[in-house]
Amino acid sequence: MHENQVGYFCHYVPWELFEACGLRGTLVTPAPPFPREREAFFPVPFCPFSKLIAEEIHRAPFSLYVLGFACDASRRTKEILEYLHTKKNLPKTILSLPIPFLGSSWGIQRLAENLRQLSLQLALLAGIHPWEVETRLGEVILSSYEERKEISTLFFAGRLPTQALLTHKRGESLPSQEARPSVLLIGSHLFLSEVVQIAEECGLSVIEESPRGTGPWLILPEQDFVPSSDPFLDLARLYTLHKFPCPRVNQRRAQTIHKMVDHLSLTGVIFLYPQFCDAFLYQLGLLRRFLAVPLLPLAHDTEPNLAQWTTRIEAFREVVRCAPSSPMAPQKL
Ligand code: SF4
Repeated sequence: MHENQVGYFCHYVPWELFEACGLRGTLVTPAPPFPREREAFFPVPFCPFSKLIAEEIHRAPFSLYVLGFACDASRRTKEILEYLHTKKNLPKTILSLPIPFLGSSWGIQRLAENLRQLSLQLALLAGIHPWEVETRLGEVILSSYEERKEISTLFFAGRLPTQALLTHKRGESLPSQEARPSVLLIGSHLFLSEVVQIAEECGLSVIEESPRGTGPWLILPEQDFVPSSDPFLDLARLYTLHKFPCPRVNQRRAQTIHKMVDHLSLTGVIFLYPQFCDAFLYQLGLLRRFLAVPLLPLAHDTEPNLAQWTTRIEAFREVVRCAPSSPMAPQKL
């Protein structure tokens, strides 16, 4: 295995499990320039995000990957990658973590069982005993929770805007206070820097609910996490009940975004989404009905659309400036 490294995708694949196995997890993050060499292997239309993830996995050096199965596109991506690797005789192993719908206690139990199965496969590959993984996992979870909680508390207080959320470490002094954020950027993992740059050039100060890079995801502030005697169940609970929800958990995510907008007194939301993704499109529909502040949807394919985005963000700036200072109450979900 390449220096004990394992590439993983998406944020619902817990890096804590790799650490408990003595492996180092790296979130697969497509970065420009984006090759399009394998595009012909994908159906049309297809999730642009999955296509870029597949390119990244195909060219990256690790021999082990774990893909979260959260949608049909992620399953199809694994099949295509396995076909390509077999064809080229590449020594890459791709494991999967099925991620059930996360809104029920059944989903949590199911995810815990899937995590247990994945840990057995990883322990075998890493050459350590499964009970050792289980013993280490509890400690790793607690330290990860404490770190995330501290960072999330700062975030929800509006004190870790944009990049600082990704790079801030526990105990470090806070970055000097930038302009108070006015607009929330949510949605896709791709092209966030481009959108932040355009928005800032237009005079909008942005805070991200950012899934980009290997930055820590956010913990919701409402409830404390109390560990049990089963670390796999704890890990499943941490990633379902305490994590800032992804668009598949549609209503809970919309409520959380509304609370964030309210809490930070934000004046608008930019929603960046990959074309052809049902989860993001459902989320867009719900936010349109639910948010009390102006919403700007920006779609992307495998390339950013800088000229169009600039025009639309400039127009959005005027909408945000002219919006009433006490927005209408949102509709009930
Ligand atoms: S963007 Fe949508 S279709 Fe693509 S991997 Fe994510 S959930 Fe699946």
